Amino acid sequence: MRHQASGHLDDGVLLRYLDGELTGREMRRARAHLEACWQCRCAREALESTVADCIEYRRKVLAAGLPEPPGGPTSRILQRERGRNALPMRGISLCNKKLR
Ligand SMILES: [Zn+2]
Repeated sequence: MRHQASGHLDDGVLLRYLDGELTGREMRRARAHLEACWQCRCAREALESTVADCIEYRRKVLAAGLPEPPGGPTSRILQRERGRNALPMRGISLCNKKLR
């Protein structure tokens, strides 16, 4: 586990800690350090806040510009319209059967 030269946890370790990606031993050491160190607890909280801001930005700004997922309201309307367009074709095939 990497520490800063000062002995504090660096951002990479804190991110892996928050993601639960540290090994058991690394996790115990990081947790023990965090319990004893205000500076690293503040750094952890700043990282959590930054991640939360990124998620919120993605949800509010980026997701608004994405196309509608399949099965959404617009998709259902399009499917219904396709169904209407298919009716005359079905009617024609029924007429053809009557003619035979
Ligand atoms: Zn520290």
